Amino acid sequence: MTNGHKTVGILAIQGDFAMHAKMLDRLGAAWKLVKHAEDLEQVGGLIMPGGESTTMLKMFAAEGVGTAIKDFAAKGKPIYGTCAGAILLAKDVSNPPQERLGLIDITIERNAYGRQIDSSVQTGECPELSDHPLEMVFIRAPIIRRVGEGVRVLGRCGNLPVLVEQGNILAGTFHPELTDDPTLHRYFLGKLSGDYTERHKL
Ligand code: GLN
Repeated sequence: MTNGHKTVGILAIQGDFAMHAKMLDRLGAAWKLVKHAEDLEQVGGLIMPGGESTTMLKMFAAEGVGTAIKDFAAKGKPIYGTCAGAILLAKDVSNPPQERLGLIDITIERNAYGRQIDSSVQTGECPELSDHPLEMVFIRAPIIRRVGEGVRVLGRCGNLPVLVEQGNILAGTFHPELTDDPTLHRYFLGKLSGDYTERHKL
């Protein structure tokens, strides 16, 4: 039997949840796909994958998943949103404004890189997580335009913040599950087991 507190939930309404599962397999971590609100009772943290935030929002409303995620966050459980997941977690969303969970104090602009580079692989830095530069995959990615006072910037690419954290909520605009580098998933697993220290390099 898996220990529910250590099992990572992967929101599997839509988007690239399967690649997160693959990365967690590689790290030997237990995971469970989260499709309904009650699935959250069996996991200790939640990854919200990239995909299409507007589609996920429809399901949030229809299935009560959005409310369940807010309750989950209020218990202090760690949540990591990538790309569309980060959009859903943000306090404010632009281009255009849309519903969101408001769990991390950032303003995020959807599809902000424009058409020419709506997908690109770049190199960025997460100095508190890794000594080496990280490959960062951006797919119709948003840009974090405002970072609130209580929010720490953990990763940058060029001049832009691309990975931010506020307490139990982690949000990134790139897709680590599409690279070979497990740094981000390892960091998130550390948050689940509660044995990480903020400045500890994993
Ligand atoms: N552009 C998508 C949205 O606004 C996000 C893209 C992604 O998750 N790769 O939801």
